[in-house]
Amino acid sequence: MKTDKSFYHSKQWETVRDGVLRRDGYQCQYCKRYGRLRGASHVHHVNPFEIYPELALERWNLVSLCRECHNRMHDRDSHELTAEGERLRRKVNEQHERRRRSGL
Ligand SMILES: [Zn+2]
Repeated sequence: MKTDKSFYHSKQWETVRDGVLRRDGYQCQYCKRYGRLRGASHVHHVNPFEIYPELALERWNLVSLCRECHNRMHDRDSHELTAEGERLRRKVNEQHERRRRSGL
């Protein structure tokens, strides 16, 4: 699957990415769930950028992860979501849906 390299070099992405890291306290949010403190080095698109480009800059769709956790979310070869990545996607989408509905 091809990735749009220019997106990852855009000013817009840089700004959103920084905001997400700050929101998450520069900590891997996945490690945090298991009580581990580890610095985040990646901002992961929960709903993959290649399939949902319209969500590419939505903060709710982004989560700070360490390199190791990020590797666990994507298949190394196809770059598709792994079972773990799918689980996270379902969870985040449910949370978002709940929040959206309560906001109506
Ligand atoms: Zn981690």
